[in-house]
Amino acid sequence: EQTLWVLGAGQLGNMLQHAAYPLGVNVKPIDIDAAQAPVLAKNDVVTAEREEWPSTPVTDALAAHSNFANQAFFATIADRFKQKSLLDELELATAPWQLVETATTESDLHNKLGDRVLLKRRKGGYDGRGQHWLKKAEQSLIPDDWHNNAIAEQAINFCEEVSLIGVRDQQGKCYFYPLTLNLHQNGILTASISPLNRLKPYQETAEKMLTKLMSAVDYVGVMAMECFKVGDKLLINEIAPRVHNSGHWTQAGSNISQFESHVRCVTGLPMIVPSIRNTNFMINLIGCELDKRWLAVEGSELFWYQKSVRAGRKVGHINFSKTGVENISAALDQIEPLLPSQYSDTINWLRKELL
Ligand code: ATP
Ligand code: MG
Ligand code: MG
Repeated sequence: EQTLWVLGAGQLGNMLQHAAYPLGVNVKPIDIDAAQAPVLAKNDVVTAEREEWPSTPVTDALAAHSNFANQAFFATIADRFKQKSLLDELELATAPWQLVETATTESDLHNKLGDRVLLKRRKGGYDGRGQHWLKKAEQSLIPDDWHNNAIAEQAINFCEEVSLIGVRDQQGKCYFYPLTLNLHQNGILTASISPLNRLKPYQETAEKMLTKLMSAVDYVGVMAMECFKVGDKLLINEIAPRVHNSGHWTQAGSNISQFESHVRCVTGLPMIVPSIRNTNFMINLIGCELDKRWLAVEGSELFWYQKSVRAGRKVGHINFSKTGVENISAALDQIEPLLPSQYSDTINWLRKELL
């Protein structure tokens, strides 16, 4: 029997396992710090739920296997300098940027990129961690050890943020979910909506961009492309070589979720065009305790990650798949009082976009 190993034992690995069960695929997420290194069979397959990992007995055992999907690509994506360089090489539009080198000064960056510059650590950042704003008006400084360890990006005055979840099978055929509209607060994703009629005009362009990238690196499985929409142009913010938080709505809104798509493609099972139902939205549960009353909200689908709760930590999400403004409105009215008060901006954003 074949096993699909997942490097990392967080929620993404768990949701891959959950999606694979009905397909008869055995998925084993594995904690990178586990004491016991796994013993892999020759025909097993390896995937990862994170971009980067330290060398441990577990990661070394997984990385040594010949069926590690997209293995070489992780090193490119995990380093923002290499990732942005690849986007430039492929002439894919991205926020203007440069490497912060030993001799780079604040004024170099302001001269080239403008009054507001966002420094991003080359490695390890997520949920907006590992970022530092450089504002000319405030004369902010480049932190000492960020030289050579960060890139600098122009502040993009975007209208909104969208993402595309793409899938490429082992024969090189690409599949896409409809574009997702995303709300970030303090660098962390709080809510997503898909599909939206007004995003349809951007679907083809976005698919072409991601097809070019996935094909260039002979990618297999799910890849996410986060974009800024500036006027009617899309600029790539960043790429994730894995299932992505902005695709969690596919668990409720598609016959094949992003997790199932990834499992199908990396294990060489047949892939088909996902069929999308209803209007879908997802609310991330960030730093709040589990509340079983959420389960009583009509049409809600809770995923609780069973992690310890800490401020700013993603601990679950709720999907809704609905038709008709009355039904959507009723669901939002029901859920709002069951969420902490800081969710009122998120609920109001959902109301503005959906009603
Ligand atoms: P993720 O959890 O998505 O991996 P991350 O920590 O890798 O996040 P980014 O996606 O690069 O970080 O940035 C997080 C958010 O910060 C973006 O979604 C966007 O809202 C904002 N942001 C990032 N880059 C820029 C930019 N150049 N100009 C303006 N806002 C930006
Ligand atoms: Mg990221
Ligand atoms: Mg991001």
